[in-house]
Amino acid sequence: MSDYDFDLFVIGGGSGGVRAARVAAQHGAKVALAEEDRIGGTCVIRGCVPKKLLVYASRFAESFEDAIGFGWTTERVAFDWPTLIANKDVEIERLSKTYVRTLEAAGVDIFRARAELENGNTVKIANGHRFRARFILIATGARPLIPQHLPGRDLVITSNQAFHLEQLPRRIAIVGGGYIAVEFAGIFAALGVETILIYRGEQILRGFDAELRHALAGEMKKKGVEIMTKADVNAIERSGDGVRLTLTDGRAVGSSSVMYAVGRIPNTSDLGLDKAKVELTPHAAVKVDAYSQSSASNIYAIGDVTNRRNLTPVAIREGHAFADTVFGNRKTAVDHENVPSAVFSQPELGTVGLTEEEARKRIDKVAVYKTNFRPMKHTLSGRDERTLMKLIVDGLTDKVVGCHMLGEGASEMTQILAILVKMGATKADFDATVALHPTAAEELVTLRD
Ligand SMILES: Cc1cc2nc3c(=O)[nH]c(=O)nc-3n(C[C@H](O)[C@H](O)[C@H](O)COP(=O)(O)OP(=O)(O)OC[C@H]3O[C@@H](n4cnc5c(N)ncnc54)[C@H](O)[C@@H]3O)c2cc1C
Repeated sequence: MSDYDFDLFVIGGGSGGVRAARVAAQHGAKVALAEEDRIGGTCVIRGCVPKKLLVYASRFAESFEDAIGFGWTTERVAFDWPTLIANKDVEIERLSKTYVRTLEAAGVDIFRARAELENGNTVKIANGHRFRARFILIATGARPLIPQHLPGRDLVITSNQAFHLEQLPRRIAIVGGGYIAVEFAGIFAALGVETILIYRGEQILRGFDAELRHALAGEMKKKGVEIMTKADVNAIERSGDGVRLTLTDGRAVGSSSVMYAVGRIPNTSDLGLDKAKVELTPHAAVKVDAYSQSSASNIYAIGDVTNRRNLTPVAIREGHAFADTVFGNRKTAVDHENVPSAVFSQPELGTVGLTEEEARKRIDKVAVYKTNFRPMKHTLSGRDERTLMKLIVDGLTDKVVGCHMLGEGASEMTQILAILVKMGATKADFDATVALHPTAAEELVTLRD
């Protein structure tokens, strides 16, 4: 080691950084990790986990309504937001401590401080200490974007604050059309908040299968979410005890609160990356190759800071692959194809592989199999909600190249479907599988048109 304090210095203790640090240490490296906030990062502290807990909480609202058709009496049902937030915080704290224990057990030195590069091998942490490391891993994630010059930007909350509201607002305007905006719209609306989604594009969830985007927007509207598309915000001002949003077309929207979910920017500023000659992409992400190596040969970057597929399991894979490549003597690149993902909207949406639109651009002969039905549960609940399932098949090879679904259980089904897509299962394989009755998933093996 001689010249170096550490073999590896990881900056950022989120999904990717923690995995990389642990695996590198298990490969025998002397590892340090600096985290300026709580260990666990976005996913655990202010992303996937607290979000899913809020989604669970909000879904009870419909379950109580649906139960009536099955003979239940549900009077005196009440919801208390502060109780939910307090219980959620206890769980997040438990998880964060688990991550710390995992790192400590692997022998990783943890610095609870902000870190930046002083040069290609030196990391300076907030208390002024400097450490020399043979390799440096940038795993600093990303943060919510609020447009720099938006008048009234100080009145805006993001998902970070949404997890800590003292009380639910009476009305909320959510600006954005991506999965975070859509998920929070579902949470707030189900919990009784008047919710309006303002999105500048043609339809919510750009990049997802067009038919599902459209169907989800329809279902959300049925649940009371007001969706304004092709609408953008010009300015926000205080108005009474709430806010007033002026749109670019001159319309005004009043609300108790306004949340921005218009995208996330990689945490690359003030990190000293220029001093280490680490190149960035035009979107301020760290530019990396297939092995997550940056333009500086001993500096790697993984996860959201590289803006590849910004999902927790991808950051974890990239962290693991980095550790195996650099310290495990096993050069590993992460395959970013056929990564499944879900939108925990209401109803939820699951997707893996090519959308119909992508398939039609890339494949000569595309076959689309789909079904749109009322789930059995809603025959008695009386709820007007439909499930949509779609298989995209390469008509020449018969391979299933995309699966998309909207409806209860979509995320769970999509995880399993992702295995089939990854394995190269054909439509004939689906057809040869006997249905499991009565389920929604059985529709996937009985699609004939
Ligand atoms: C609301 C929300 C919901 C989400 N839901 C899902 C979901 O359902 N499924 C899914 O797969 N993904 C989801 N994501 C995305 C997921 O959280 C990220 O893809 C994932 O956390 C990325 O991991 P990471 O390690 O790259 O970065 P992060 O988890 O963001 O970790 C980076 C860490 O670096 C720290 N840091 C930054 N700069 C410094 C510095 N200079 N010094 C020290 N520490 C620093 C930060 O404090 C942070 O803890 C969601 C994200 C959000 C915001």
